[in-house]
Amino acid sequence: MYSDIYKLIEEFDKIVLARHVGVDPDAMASVMALKDSIKLTFNNKQVYAVGSGSNRFSYFGKLDKLDNMNDSLLIVLDTPDIRRIDGVNLEDFKKIIKIDHHPFVEKFADIEHIDDTASSASELVLELINTTPLLMDKNIASKIYLGIVSDTNRFMFNNSTSKTFLSVAKMIEEYHLEIDKLYEPLYLRPFNEVKLEGYIGLNLEITNSGVAYIKLTDEILNKYKVDAASPGNMINNFNYINEVLVWAFFTEDVKNENIRVSVRSRGPVINTALSKYNGGGHKYASGARIKTMEEASQIINDLDSLCKIYIEEGRDNFEN
Ligand code: AMP
Repeated sequence: MYSDIYKLIEEFDKIVLARHVGVDPDAMASVMALKDSIKLTFNNKQVYAVGSGSNRFSYFGKLDKLDNMNDSLLIVLDTPDIRRIDGVNLEDFKKIIKIDHHPFVEKFADIEHIDDTASSASELVLELINTTPLLMDKNIASKIYLGIVSDTNRFMFNNSTSKTFLSVAKMIEEYHLEIDKLYEPLYLRPFNEVKLEGYIGLNLEITNSGVAYIKLTDEILNKYKVDAASPGNMINNFNYINEVLVWAFFTEDVKNENIRVSVRSRGPVINTALSKYNGGGHKYASGARIKTMEEASQIINDLDSLCKIYIEEGRDNFEN
């Protein structure tokens, strides 16, 4: 599969790299690392990284504007479905490759490389580079490292396999990665977000079956001077709370006229519950965009039922 992907990269002079809307570090890292690697290997190819940016991730590099995409190759990273691809129309491209670690949703590419046991899209880019003549340098290795670190929550989630550790260790050794320096832009955050995190901790509601949730209105976001993306940046910090199995943030996003839903689990599989609301994601990390807080309450009920079944089936060591 990787050699087929390499052949197409070799064949095309113009290559566009895209990823999902609501960019996160793994999406950004996988795109920018692959762009840099293609440029390093073939310096006369035109390679574009597209999609809406975020100041927060500007350290990964600059995104490009698209012009005429005739006869070009599109590589979509970290995105399982067409509706969540950011910034391109699939019809504009001659060939399409998908490289993804989400559970399969739909086929849209000529070559689809999906491995939902991989920690991250960045780990798949690393594998692609390691198994083909694509080149790597310290800058590329640093980006890949950050993508993997982010999607595994610093190797804490069970998507970190021995393969992940081995390939990361090799990369650290070969490119002398200084991990403390790399962490800084990824984890540095405004004090306002720390205050918001305090607010969330104080105001989380927890159901009897262990669903923790909070509804964050625009008014609250304004009070703490943060934007609608901020709560999603801190949801992983609410792992390992005794009374909580599944936790969900519902954040009003006035600009996009919707409510952002971010859900995490340390037991029950949650992505199927979110797909009922036009969302999805990974087994234990999912999201959706909904229209009303009433729908949020329905999601909380659904998650509560999931947790109830999970506890009744005795598949956990949950204790109040
Ligand atoms: P988040 O809580 O936004 O970090 O998202 C967690 C996971 O859920 C990621 O893998 C996202 O790709 C996925 N996800 C988030 N929002 C949606 C959505 N509206 N539809 C499908 N998957 C989503």
